Amino acid sequence: MAHIVMRDVQKRFGNVEVIPGASLEIKDNEFVVFVGPSGCGKSTLLRLLAGLEDLTAGAIEIDGERVDHLSPSRRGLAMVFQSYALYPHMTVRENMSYALRVARTPKAEVEAKVREAAEILQLTEYLDRKPKALSGGQRQRVAIGRAIVRDPKVFLFDEPLSNLDAKLRVQMRIEITKLHRRLKATMIYVTHDQIEAMTMADKIVVLNEGRIEQMGAPLDLYNDPDNKFVAGFIGSPA
Ligand code: ADP
Ligand code: MG
Repeated sequence: MAHIVMRDVQKRFGNVEVIPGASLEIKDNEFVVFVGPSGCGKSTLLRLLAGLEDLTAGAIEIDGERVDHLSPSRRGLAMVFQSYALYPHMTVRENMSYALRVARTPKAEVEAKVREAAEILQLTEYLDRKPKALSGGQRQRVAIGRAIVRDPKVFLFDEPLSNLDAKLRVQMRIEITKLHRRLKATMIYVTHDQIEAMTMADKIVVLNEGRIEQMGAPLDLYNDPDNKFVAGFIGSPA
């Protein structure tokens, strides 16, 4: 669990202002979904939080501590991407344990963590396989497993299901929601899919051209959008 605060976070690439200024607060154990059209800055905001990009201005706090000067590995978060980026030459077990082995975690602890994650994700019988012998959904579960073994306080997902077919997307959506209940971690989930946002989120953040148009519970945004953009994006079809 972690409490996240972003204070007037800004990001410029060259002279292009991608995030002109975004402030938001995410509570312990919340499942927050960032939505908005392609290019609106969803990934950039997530990468700023993860420390994969430097802020141009502003501040990020996790549990009351400034983290924007900390390296990604010291922020207590783990990111799951759309392209699973698994190591093709490693087995599922080796992929899942890689970060822990690099951190010189004791072997017994590594094994216990991998066993537990594999059980949660129903991957136990696939631990000795290579990624190419897995389905798309199983590969995405391995990517999530790599995050779980690190016990992050915060999970960041960047369109993790967009490479999967529709049926699998629905199934994984349910699995990720269950995972959230089970792990009690704060989760931030980026998607451009309104249905994913409506069904998974405790709170939705609607982004447009790097600005937060509105943040709130799905039904509040649906029934009472602040403006036309929010209405067009998640509002009722009527
Ligand atoms: P989204 O994830 O919502 O589709 P992004 O955060 O990837 O949007 O991108 C937001 C904007 O920032 C886009 O216009 C994109 O071209 C630009 N952008 C993202 N990363 C870089 C970069 N490293 N250099 C220059 N422009 C970038
Ligand atoms: Mg993106």
